[in-house]
Amino acid sequence: MIDKPIIAANWKMNLTKSDSGKLINNLNNFYDGGVELIIVPSFTLLDFAKSILSNDIALGAQNCYYKNEGSYTGEISPTQLIDIGCKYVIIGHSERRHIFGETNDLLKKKLLSAKNAGLIPIYCIGETIKEKRAGKTQEVLLKQIDILSKDIMPLVVAYEPIWAIGTGRIADIETIEQANSFIRDRLSDMEMTDVPIIYGGSVKPESTYKIASSNLIDGALVGGASLNAGQFIKIIDIFKEVKIC
Ligand code: PEP
Repeated sequence: MIDKPIIAANWKMNLTKSDSGKLINNLNNFYDGGVELIIVPSFTLLDFAKSILSNDIALGAQNCYYKNEGSYTGEISPTQLIDIGCKYVIIGHSERRHIFGETNDLLKKKLLSAKNAGLIPIYCIGETIKEKRAGKTQEVLLKQIDILSKDIMPLVVAYEPIWAIGTGRIADIETIEQANSFIRDRLSDMEMTDVPIIYGGSVKPESTYKIASSNLIDGALVGGASLNAGQFIKIIDIFKEVKIC
């Protein structure tokens, strides 16, 4: 169980080695252990990031395949991620689901295989704007949650409404709390308690207070703002100030 706020930086397909080195140096200098900080760079930067990241900042990958070895050109396995020093892996990011066609069936295999290799999955779920407007948010979340099971724990769930990702349009706090309560209740029906549920979607320093103040939100998955050391450090600081008294 992770008992601190969880803040993960999803760098997506961004940053060169030299830019990432500068960003990591800034984070190393500032980090004091108050939150579970996870840096999630592109595959090409994982080894380099591990070599310079302070020991108590965790490393995560953005994706993995479900096989551990074999003829799967272009894929990366969970055991390779462990070998390089990853602790976490993002599974089911909406960009993987919608651009690369990843289905709940495939994601279930990835979750199990990641867990069996010793990784902690950060499992992303959330609805499109069309599904939201049609009142189908809970139906969509339910299908995404239903592939989970106790044997995948420990696990982090990230509620990321797709319409809020990279759009600058953060979901309002009532929407996030409603979704997180729904997710928590469903997980508890499945005897999965103590699963942190974090929020992702256009988190910026200006919007962090509200998110961090909610007892139903255990942290944040940050995309765009995590590429800017100043903004990202402010987000972490606000979580520390609000959640750790
Ligand atoms: C994400 O990609 O997971 C994300 C939350 O991105 P952004 O913060 O840029 O919306």
